[in-house]
Amino acid sequence: MTMTPDISRHPCFNKSVSGQCGRIHLPVAPACNIQCRYCNRKYDCVNESRPGVTSGVLTPPQAAAYLDRVLEKEPRITVVGIAGPGDPFANAEATLETIRLIRERHPEMLFCVSTNGLGLPPYLDRVKDAGITHMTVTVNAVDPAVGKRFYSWVRDGERTLHGREAAELLLMRQLESIRGLKERGITVKVNTILTPGYNDGHIEELAKAMASMGVDMLNVMPLHPTADTPFEGIIEPNKAFVEKLRKAAEKHLPQMRHCRRCRADAVGLLGNDRSGEFAGCLSECGR
Ligand code: SF4
Ligand code: SF4
Repeated sequence: MTMTPDISRHPCFNKSVSGQCGRIHLPVAPACNIQCRYCNRKYDCVNESRPGVTSGVLTPPQAAAYLDRVLEKEPRITVVGIAGPGDPFANAEATLETIRLIRERHPEMLFCVSTNGLGLPPYLDRVKDAGITHMTVTVNAVDPAVGKRFYSWVRDGERTLHGREAAELLLMRQLESIRGLKERGITVKVNTILTPGYNDGHIEELAKAMASMGVDMLNVMPLHPTADTPFEGIIEPNKAFVEKLRKAAEKHLPQMRHCRRCRADAVGLLGNDRSGEFAGCLSECGR
């Protein structure tokens, strides 16, 4: 009998279950197809992950074996996520194969993937067929004049683009991705890295544009300045400022306010990350 996943069991999309339902991030996606100016590639994808900790990288069979071992000790996991350490669709085959292997063994799991959206459009049908119910797309701007300051380069196949051209292509793919996901009935959250002096005057406009596309939730994440990046000198926005912008955005879209900026190998309940405890298990499975 095929089980239908219950989408109310996602702790990020449904805060009321975050005390009972946990998630695991499987680090199967090492490469990235863009360079965000706030990201130091020695660390995890900052779009979905707290910087400062490098994750081990697993192959799809290793990731499936690792999940089996974690579930023995942490059976509250209801969501399997792929969020890096690079971009899941710069590593699309590994991402989709990991989900296929896990779905065979655990059909009740929810699958959630976080991406910058550049490489997603050709995979939209496969995303749906794979059983992915939730996606996060990081969109920092809906105007290339704002977006061009966020990216050092964007790589599309053999082409590497810079400046406005790079931002235009990325935005076009992000909009195509979001449209395609919503047409396929997938729940979509947008993450926006709130960066003072760059997109702080643009958040409400972005929320409005995302709402008009049927996006389900916006997660305005304050920039966490990372060493050895062009954005390292920017001051992290304070809570009151973040809240002011979330309130403005909330006129258009529900806001996520309980994001924990998890690592690409996070395990457990949102408020009680157990990735440290399972680090040994992760490296054993990665051998
Ligand atoms: Fe880094 Fe993620 Fe941006 Fe890629 S998409 S450069 S991994 S923050
Ligand atoms: Fe959920 Fe935020 Fe953690 Fe992603 S980074 S799993 S949205 S709490």
